[in-house]
Amino acid sequence: MKVGVLALQGAVAEHIRLIEAAGGEGVVVKRTEQLDELDGLIIPGGESTTIGKLMRTYGFIEAIQNFSREGKAVFGTCAGMILVADHIAGQAEAHLGLMNMTVQRNAFGRQRESFETDLDVKGIQEPIRAVFIRAPLIDEVGDRVDVLSTYNGQIVAARQGQVLAASFHPELTDDSRMHAYFLDMIRQNR
Ligand code: GLN
Repeated sequence: MKVGVLALQGAVAEHIRLIEAAGGEGVVVKRTEQLDELDGLIIPGGESTTIGKLMRTYGFIEAIQNFSREGKAVFGTCAGMILVADHIAGQAEAHLGLMNMTVQRNAFGRQRESFETDLDVKGIQEPIRAVFIRAPLIDEVGDRVDVLSTYNGQIVAARQGQVLAASFHPELTDDSRMHAYFLDMIRQNR
């Protein structure tokens, strides 16, 4: 299974390493044409406004929307989660609009810019180690969205069909189970 990592900004090499640890083939994606050969795409963390602008400049908005419409899997982590949402609190426009949810940027405030915790994730046996960095939260989800994880009662991971989103950075640990979950999602959809 070939899984691309959108390489406009953010932690690309780390995601590739964990895709491979989970048994997939990782591809660094810089051009829209590369999407044709992929089974899934990860949109990494970084700064969502910057990544959104670069996506517009290089034609990735429409290309990823089409990719998702074809039933291919998309996983947005941290800033990537903001990019897949169809609503961003306090902003008139969203980016890709692939998942029916409202996200709140930088939701943990300045005092707790980054932290790590163990999280229970639906579909994964033991808790996973999650790293949060200026992380967003999911404020509200639509009917077709399955909540996969919460932290202090707030939603930090969710799935809608072949779209997966997480507030945290699963690529900054040695735990590849979130990536394995994404590969399973693709496998089950075949
Ligand atoms: N705070 C960033 C944003 O709003 C996301 C942070 C991250 O990806 N680590 O884009």
